[in-house]
Amino acid sequence: MTDRITVAYGDGIGPEIMKATMRVLDAAGADLEYDIITVGKPVYLSGVTSGISDDSWATLRKNGVFLKAPITTPQGGGYKSLNVTIRKTLGLFANIRPCKAYAPYVHSHFPTMDLVVVRENEEDLYAGIEHRQTNEVVQSLKLISKSGSERICRYAFEYARANKRKRVTCMTKDNIMKLTDGTFHATFDRIAAEYPDIENDHYIIDIGSARLADSPQNFDVIVTLNLYGDIVSDITAQVAGSVGLCGSSNIGKDFAMFEAIHGSAPDIAGKGIANPSGLINGACMMLNHLGKGDIAQKIQNALLCTIENGIHTGDIYSEETSSRRVNTQEFTDALIERLGNKPKQLVPFANNPDAKPIVIEDPKVKQQTKALVGTDLYLDWSGNDSKELGDKIKAASTDALPLRLITNRGIQVYPNVHAEITTTDHWRCRFKSSDESSVSTKDVAELITSITDAGLEIIKMDNLYTFDGERGYSLCQGE
Ligand code: NAD
Repeated sequence: MTDRITVAYGDGIGPEIMKATMRVLDAAGADLEYDIITVGKPVYLSGVTSGISDDSWATLRKNGVFLKAPITTPQGGGYKSLNVTIRKTLGLFANIRPCKAYAPYVHSHFPTMDLVVVRENEEDLYAGIEHRQTNEVVQSLKLISKSGSERICRYAFEYARANKRKRVTCMTKDNIMKLTDGTFHATFDRIAAEYPDIENDHYIIDIGSARLADSPQNFDVIVTLNLYGDIVSDITAQVAGSVGLCGSSNIGKDFAMFEAIHGSAPDIAGKGIANPSGLINGACMMLNHLGKGDIAQKIQNALLCTIENGIHTGDIYSEETSSRRVNTQEFTDALIERLGNKPKQLVPFANNPDAKPIVIEDPKVKQQTKALVGTDLYLDWSGNDSKELGDKIKAASTDALPLRLITNRGIQVYPNVHAEITTTDHWRCRFKSSDESSVSTKDVAELITSITDAGLEIIKMDNLYTFDGERGYSLCQGE
């Protein structure tokens, strides 16, 4: 059956590897029709600040399936990441990144590694909500939802089951971020209990990443938050052999996008030497999604044969394991010549004709009773005597919301004063009712007026709530 998909050539090495991938798809008989859209830099430059036109959105929505080459995103300024915009707009909540070694034909310290990173794709620091509110300090908001955590954890277990994987490992930093990462971990534990046939465990992300870099062959499926998933999947792809080898799928309820895990590689763009395998593997994930697993198997086996025959692009070339150093086009020609062949040493891909797309129902989040019990007011204050500030605020606080403490960069500086703490101009002042009894928003408004009348500058407010009596905010040191 002919399927119509949307294709974007991207930039950097994007056009080179996309042309190679489309040649492979056509030669293998994938029977696809393509709608080509332009996204990214040329669109920004034409004045469309989102980097994607309305017509392109309409094409994406019409076709449902998107094969995308990498796009360059400026660092430290400039327009927002279009990759992130597309993932969030189309609800592509699950980013699946399989990383497998091709040893001994591609050098890897971990010849038996074969793992899959399931990365949450819509939340976390990728909201990109950042502010500078004082002379010194900038902040970024980390947003984690219960429903988002449930969706991705459930996807990871369903993926493990469908792909005959044995264990799902969760990685978070919930010893520090007890609410955000804590929500993810608690959700993982709850969902894991529904899958007794799959083993589960949890690592704090720092030691988890260390173990991944040291012994990735001990991992199977890893589920983690957006930022950690982005980082650990690059590590695992690189230690498997090259970031140029791994493909990735971005799956949502109604849409799916397929790509390589790597970026636009500006350092080698235009030279025609990029490894197209990552995007080709991404395209094979797309074929499986479209129910064309037999074609995916044919392409992936030809890719294995090419690698096994030592026909290698520069990123995986070595005197010991390669017979020929090739450019993108020569690699693609060699792969196409091998369509229909099976590798002799590497384990051939086997298509599962019964594979069905994983469908995750929208999670139902239990409604809890919310009570306002206090507020954190953030001040821009350029002094450095926290006692002076604390005494001033204490005098201005109200009976309903007395001052409890002040922190600077998260460490308490009032009422306990430690002279050696280096402070900035960003002060968090916690006001809480006695015994965490409920207060009104009018109480908070009166407090804000009183603090402002005392000549202090409030730059931000985070209210303190309980949910069914359970604290909805983290405690400060010594609180
Ligand atoms: P990168 O992945 O583009 O490159 C990292 C290194 O790997 C470079 O040395 C590069 O030459 C090499 N490499 C990457 N792909 C290769 C391939 N197919 N063949 C051979 N070598 C390859 O990472 P970067 O340099 O940090 O990012 C460049 C740009 O790509 C940035 O603007 C970034 O935002 C963007 N990016 C886009 C995506 C995406 O579109 N999904 C993903 C990651 C990064």
